[in-house]
Amino acid sequence: MATSLYLHVPFCVSRCGYCSFYSGEPLSMLSEYPRLVKKEFALAKDGEKLSTFYMGGGTPGLLGAKAIGEIMEAAQKSFGLAPSSEITIETNPCVDNDFAALRGAGINRVSIGAQALDDEILTRLGRAHTSAEALASIAAALKAGVSVSADLIYGHAGSSPAKLSRWAKELAALGVGHISAYSLETPKSRKKAQGLRRAGIKKAGASEEAQHKALLETLSAEGFHCYEVSNFARPGFESRHNKVYWSGESYIGAGPGAHGFLKEIGPYGTRYENSPSLEKYRASLLRGEPPPRKSEELSWNEALLETLFLALRQNAPLKPEKIALRYGLKLETLRDSLSRLAQQGDLCAKTLSPTLKGMQRADGLALWLLDRLL
Ligand code: SF4
Repeated sequence: MATSLYLHVPFCVSRCGYCSFYSGEPLSMLSEYPRLVKKEFALAKDGEKLSTFYMGGGTPGLLGAKAIGEIMEAAQKSFGLAPSSEITIETNPCVDNDFAALRGAGINRVSIGAQALDDEILTRLGRAHTSAEALASIAAALKAGVSVSADLIYGHAGSSPAKLSRWAKELAALGVGHISAYSLETPKSRKKAQGLRRAGIKKAGASEEAQHKALLETLSAEGFHCYEVSNFARPGFESRHNKVYWSGESYIGAGPGAHGFLKEIGPYGTRYENSPSLEKYRASLLRGEPPPRKSEELSWNEALLETLFLALRQNAPLKPEKIALRYGLKLETLRDSLSRLAQQGDLCAKTLSPTLKGMQRADGLALWLLDRLL
């Protein structure tokens, strides 16, 4: 059913102050991890070859090329990998990454958490590397012939449009094909944002918008396009794996804490999450059972809101006919609402693609649309 696989690797060298991902399991468990993953893959196989495989975390690079090679073999055996598969691992510049060996193991794309090219900011964020180490890591990956995506964080004390623009230029000059840039969310700001979202008024702050705009302008001049509000790519370097998430296609989630989605189960698909506990994960697999997980069928409301939200974040035409058909909506009402968004400058009237303004406030607009369609 699914041709994409996400594997969560919950280990990190140290915790970054802003991080809300599940990671931080004891590094002493790293050596056993590939064996557990192999068992899970064997139980999860569904007969479809993978076209994308993404190892995220955490810091998958910590596993090293040999263990990653074993995981690749297990993926090949249990699912099969198409020759043109996009295979990504996330890594951190503080890891001694052997990119040539990773490439030899079948990895063709790495996502490197640079986050900022300013040592004072990196220290404040709790990152375990310097900007020179981030640049050296990216250069080494490119030299080994691996496609590179670099992560940046903006919207925090110390970042500014000028700095974002300088960092983007440096990364582009090195030769990266892809940059992901996320606005910093701390547990406190996340709570506040959730409240605003519930009230339908979430909107990026003026300084965040200015920093995002600086990135967009700098990267456009360097030949990148913003194909999703947080993602910029040179032509042909867009993340195929992320596009699977954004288009509502099925993907398998493996590893403790991983999320998966199966669109074929239930009228609007089923989301699941493996329990975020390596201890429980290990115990289940050693008994020969799949990892414990929570599953939830999406309701009409949840699925429609997610479809609208994801569509409004992408620089691609909205397809009212397809959305109306999938959710049993009156096409006329949907078209009227989209025209309102076009009139206020959130969509391009001709193509129905979100404008920069529309993409920046996608979550508030999705809630507004949902209200009108209920
Ligand atoms: S390296 Fe990434 S996953 Fe690990 S603590 Fe830092 S932000 Fe979180």
